[in-house]
Amino acid sequence: MTFRWQIRIPYRSPDDSLTDVILATRCLEGNEAAVAREIGQRAQLGGLRTAGELIDRLEATSKAERRQLLDSARQAVGLERSEKIDDREAFEGAQRVARLRASGRDAAGRLFTGCAAEGCRALPSDPATGLPVPVADRRWWCPEHRHLAEPEDHLPPEDVTTIGPHFEEISAPSIQRAEAARDEERRRADRRRAEEGTHEARERAEVERLRNEQFERELPESFRS
Ligand SMILES: [Zn+2]
Repeated sequence: MTFRWQIRIPYRSPDDSLTDVILATRCLEGNEAAVAREIGQRAQLGGLRTAGELIDRLEATSKAERRQLLDSARQAVGLERSEKIDDREAFEGAQRVARLRASGRDAAGRLFTGCAAEGCRALPSDPATGLPVPVADRRWWCPEHRHLAEPEDHLPPEDVTTIGPHFEEISAPSIQRAEAARDEERRRADRRRAEEGTHEARERAEVERLRNEQFERELPESFRS
């Protein structure tokens, strides 16, 4: 997820005032709104006036500086620094991978194992070569002990996270489905907020137009254009 740590600055035109930008942060998701508001306010305090100036300033900074700015804003609004979250997740990921490697299942969910019967030393083997082969069975039973097997022992374990050919972690299917659903929900929410934002902007423009009309009506004849 490359978009995870980004600074989102909501604006319609680079000429928008930072006050408008700060108001528009309402259309962002909870934490993002608070962080964007904080960044907008800091920019204002720093003497910037428009969305364009803020965007230019952000674009002129290095990736590391932007990350520092993001983290300092996150801290100011009571959130954990993104760096800390990344470090923790990398550590947890490495531990998960180590656990999986210890469990020994490959990307196809196969594993080198022996007969599940106590004391039996039989191994699944390739009939042609006689060499041990990995199997996907939940529990493998040799021909002699096969009668002890539970009805579903021969099935591959469902929904396990596996290790890919480059030692990368491949999430269990249920996790992949949940992640896809979350991404889709996020996209839908973004679209919804964008539509609501446009609607609000139209209403505001309409109010502005009516106000101007009113103003013109109230102007003395000689002031009219
Ligand atoms: Zn056996």
